[in-house]
Amino acid sequence: MPETKPFAYCDQLVKQFEAVIQKPIPGRSSFYYTGVDLGTACVVLTVLDDSRKPVAGAYRYADVVRDGMVVDYLGAIQIVRELKAQLEQQLGVELEYAAAAIPPGTDLLDAGAIKHVIQGAGFEVTALLDEPTAANAVLQISNGAIVDIGGGTTGISILKDGKVVYVADEATGGTHFSLVIAGAYQMSFSEADCFKRDPAHHQELLPLLRPVIDKVASIINHHVVGHEVKELYLVGGTCCLSGMETIIEQKTGIATYKPSNPLFVTPLGIALNC
Ligand code: ATP
Repeated sequence: MPETKPFAYCDQLVKQFEAVIQKPIPGRSSFYYTGVDLGTACVVLTVLDDSRKPVAGAYRYADVVRDGMVVDYLGAIQIVRELKAQLEQQLGVELEYAAAAIPPGTDLLDAGAIKHVIQGAGFEVTALLDEPTAANAVLQISNGAIVDIGGGTTGISILKDGKVVYVADEATGGTHFSLVIAGAYQMSFSEADCFKRDPAHHQELLPLLRPVIDKVASIINHHVVGHEVKELYLVGGTCCLSGMETIIEQKTGIATYKPSNPLFVTPLGIALNC
């Protein structure tokens, strides 16, 4: 059965972050580190203080990135600028420096676009890292696979002795889950996405979403072939779906672990690398 034991640091950090989204902690730091996660479904800004503790955070669901590529450049700049201004007002300081991440396998051209979005919003970019490295700054695992199921894609990163040795990113993610719900319940896409995010609906949704979860499991099975993967670590907003980890563990036959809130793992890891 999945357990939460490996996630002591991760769960503590995420819990602190969830608290400061509701109630920011102003004026206690000489320096601030910001992480900008430009996702397919969600843009997240995380702010850490000089002891790398979360002090503020904000996120917004948006449609400015698809499969790791910026498709609405000006819209992306506008959202990051607005979230930055909101956080600066809450903290009473100017946020100058930010790091960002790109999905595994995204080419250098789009890394440039992401960097320009963050600069366009008024940050100086200190680091541009890959998402598995960001996630692992929080998970702190040495061996196994990090499976990042976000809005548009499922990313698989295999680690050996703390180093990423294989990455893949395939087009199945939370968007596909929401499309299935929209079709079955006769809802618009955004209604279905909201419905899906409410944990009170997860038990009811699990059987309906089972074929898409099976598809994610088959993607994982395909990519772990030839690697000695004994553990899967789930991150990304789609993994918030209760019970998903059990199905993935059954379908892959690999011990599967999920932190208490997989949505904020990569965004926090980005800020830790700022
Ligand atoms: P990508 O990594 O593909 O670029 P992203 O970074 O925007 O996308 P995340 O923010 O990790 O992806 O996850 C967004 C997805 O997670 C969306 O499909 C959203 O509906 C889903 N999601 C968020 N919260 C929940 C929840 N509580 N229950 C189920 N799904 C959720």
